[in-house]
Amino acid sequence: MATGNRVDLDGRPIKPITICMIGAGGFIGSHLCEKLLLETPHKILALDVYNDKIKHLLEPASLPWADRIQFHRLNIKHDSRLEGLIKMADLTINLAAICTPADYNTRPLDTIYSNFIDALPVVKYCSENNKRLIHFSTCEVYGKTIGSFLPKDSPLRQDPAYYILKEDTSPCIFGPIEKQRWSYACAKQLIERLIYAEGAENGLEFTIVRPFNWIGPRMDFIPGIDGPSEGVPRVLACFSNALLRSEPLKLVDGGQSQRSFVYIKDAIEAVLLMIENPHRANGHIFNVGNPYNEVTVKQLAEMMTKVYSEVSGEPALEAPTVDVSSKEFYGEGYDDSDKRVPDMTIINRQLGWNPKTSLWDLLESTLTYQHKTYAEAVKKTIAKPTSS
Ligand code: NAD
Repeated sequence: MATGNRVDLDGRPIKPITICMIGAGGFIGSHLCEKLLLETPHKILALDVYNDKIKHLLEPASLPWADRIQFHRLNIKHDSRLEGLIKMADLTINLAAICTPADYNTRPLDTIYSNFIDALPVVKYCSENNKRLIHFSTCEVYGKTIGSFLPKDSPLRQDPAYYILKEDTSPCIFGPIEKQRWSYACAKQLIERLIYAEGAENGLEFTIVRPFNWIGPRMDFIPGIDGPSEGVPRVLACFSNALLRSEPLKLVDGGQSQRSFVYIKDAIEAVLLMIENPHRANGHIFNVGNPYNEVTVKQLAEMMTKVYSEVSGEPALEAPTVDVSSKEFYGEGYDDSDKRVPDMTIINRQLGWNPKTSLWDLLESTLTYQHKTYAEAVKKTIAKPTSS
């Protein structure tokens, strides 16, 4: 619960602030709201089009933090209230985005507008009103690793110098324009450059966060249960959906891409440190990930199958995975990053943050949540006779 005598990393008392959180109703926003309300005295102006994932924090009005969170249902694309809300706050955190890979090549215009154009007024209002901004970018801005261009059998591929992603030295390597998958990464890169330039030319106080595959409860939706039946969420929810339905997990192009996954609750600790230590976080771009939880997507599928069988008590399928081509799964214009391992030097040095949770443990708590939340509802939809 909120305490009055909290101190920052340098021992100075932390003053309560008001935070304008855009995209507060999403996966990361819901965890950040929870953390701020339960463990700090800060106030939140929560902005989003939806609030299903934070309903438990908004109602009933008798909740102990009721006077510290206000929900504003608005679309930042066209709402004149935005500037006023940013002005009312000490800090703005922008999480709003289209950020599901299935959209990048199939809805590239919406993706670019959402990740670049719609973020512009937020940056402008923060800069003009001298308000601090924490902006959520992505590890996708690194694109492909240098090592991915080496011959397949080159021993240099194992050399970290060719794959570790560093905020201040790694290049951003995207595929050709016709591979529209890169629309998201490119839009995020340009907004990062704009924010950086606002800092350099106009003194904007900013922090940029590059999340590396944060996962946990409340991520995305289960198609046909709390989202569209035809919708394609990110990998955690895609695999959870298959496990809940006892269907094989689809591995795009053999599931050979490598990712490092970090537990949402670990990552949120890093964001809280940024919020409460502005003098250490301002002007920095931070990788936030867990380099020790690196697996191929195929290994992730195998581990999720084992963990789900353990938490649900249901036997795993004999053939738990099936291969699909990226064209079949994502459509024309798909492409992928080969490997994403964050360098942790800057976040260690500035904020002393390190992730704690192993992949097995984070999958255990996440799949326990998925099973408890969705198993009954999925069973009912499977049992329903289909109308002819
Ligand atoms: P999310 O989709 O769960 O949350 C985004 C929220 O923004 C949603 O609730 C959505 O309704 C809201 N939103 C979108 N457009 C809006 C608009 N025009 N007006 C008002 N609200 C709007 O996604 P998330 O996983 O919580 O990601 C948050 C941020 O972090 C995004 O910028 C994303 O690109 C970035 N990110 C996340 C990850 C991850 O691992 N989860 C990885 C890389 C980057």
